[in-house]
Amino acid sequence: MAVRDEPLHILFFPFLASGHLIPIAHMAALFAGRGVRCTILTTPVNAAIIRSAVDRANDAFAGTGSPAIDIAVVPFPDVGLPPGVENGTALASQDDRDKFYQAVRLLREPFDRFLADHRTDAVVSDSFFDWSVDAAAERGVPRIAFLGSSMFARACSDSMLRHNPLENAPDDPDALVLLPELPHRVELRRSQMLDPAKRPWHWEFFKSMNAADQRSFGEVFNSFHDLERDYVKHFQKTLGRRVWLVGPVALASKDMAVRGTDVPSPDASSCLRWLDAKPAGSVVYVSFGTLTRFAPAELHQLARALDLSGLNFVWVIGAAAGQDSSEWMPEGFAYLIASGDRGFMVRGWAPQMLILSHPALGGFVTHCGWNSVLEAVTAGVPMATWPRYADQFNNETLVVEQLKVGVSIGAKDYASGIEAHEVIAGEVIAESIQRLMESDAIQKKAKDLGLKARSAMEKGGSSYDDVGRLMDELAARRSTVKVVEDIQASC
Ligand code: UDP
Repeated sequence: MAVRDEPLHILFFPFLASGHLIPIAHMAALFAGRGVRCTILTTPVNAAIIRSAVDRANDAFAGTGSPAIDIAVVPFPDVGLPPGVENGTALASQDDRDKFYQAVRLLREPFDRFLADHRTDAVVSDSFFDWSVDAAAERGVPRIAFLGSSMFARACSDSMLRHNPLENAPDDPDALVLLPELPHRVELRRSQMLDPAKRPWHWEFFKSMNAADQRSFGEVFNSFHDLERDYVKHFQKTLGRRVWLVGPVALASKDMAVRGTDVPSPDASSCLRWLDAKPAGSVVYVSFGTLTRFAPAELHQLARALDLSGLNFVWVIGAAAGQDSSEWMPEGFAYLIASGDRGFMVRGWAPQMLILSHPALGGFVTHCGWNSVLEAVTAGVPMATWPRYADQFNNETLVVEQLKVGVSIGAKDYASGIEAHEVIAGEVIAESIQRLMESDAIQKKAKDLGLKARSAMEKGGSSYDDVGRLMDELAARRSTVKVVEDIQASC
């Protein structure tokens, strides 16, 4: 078969964190379903996290003519981390983090070797691998950036990095700071923003990342046009960037139950049975992704809030499972859970997509990680927002102020997983959740948005079309490259 007749081949190169691996596994399933040969390059522990998602997708493709997705497993570089520590969730100290980032840079060698040994039409590289733009260019392969965030948050970050609005802002944590040159007026409290004076390493890293993404062939988003239409225009017209919105990619998943882990929680199926017995729209789901950590004082207030709210709830306490619950559990809370009447606690990895799409769900308390936000949007579930750091405060603004499908809990301080956060009182948390569950307008808006999300992925929908547009552009590029190669061979 002539090279030009072979299916397109895309190499996916996700960052080593579950929130990056999961959407990449789904995106590979999406593109493979459209006839693209997909390979995911990662290390053994990270391969295990997405193995079930990939195997299920391949089972579903058997006999359909869609090419099977491959996982190319490369060793995790030896930088002195204990065996098995290969993923952002497993890092316990700053020393671990430093070693981890050293290992991340060393992945350039296997990445380069893969490109040298295989014909690839494009690489979808995580933006965190800023060096991959040069490595791909050296091999003549177009790099398509993917960070797994919202287009809105990426636009906010670009505005921050270009204008550094904190430089001339009052030195008051509550001062409202305007992000310049965005389609809407977007303001955040100073305390909610990445401050380059306090975090120079992060600032320089994000600058380098943004520059690498600008030099790339384009950027792919796990989003859809109806969700953030003004920001699509902003990226294309104002920033002059090529973008494709192909989400919600979770809808391409063939593995709703286990995807994203090789160790599902033993509580998973009893949680779903528990939900079956609850009235429609009556349950609040509480979960904060894979990296967020809460101090015992915060867990204490959250538990009080769930009790005070009087609502039914499912609380995923994966990240805190190892903590001694006597440090934070309020009196009577253990009984509330044990009675099984109003509350259910999941220890470990929850089947989030199945929970969010359960008819009993009425609201989601989230840290605003983009995957969680988009999964809630897709399921038509409104959110009580509790951002902590990174893009999460921007995602909160999108959810609460622009899409109007959420209520803010009122978090004010940008602080990463291992840093201390202001403790928000249980009464305040409870009041926000109650407001969310009682608002017919918010509930209706969320349901409408869920319908739009699903129709974007259907044949003729905007995300379906963007996948096709990207494939056409890569096919056209392949033809041009082939003509050049033929001319060179004949000289
Ligand atoms: N997730 C899950 N079960 C869990 C915890 C997390 O399925 O118990 C999934 C969740 O559905 C989402 C991802 O893990 O797809 C977390 O990504 P997100 O961007 O929300 O947060 P991050 O972990 O990157 O902060």
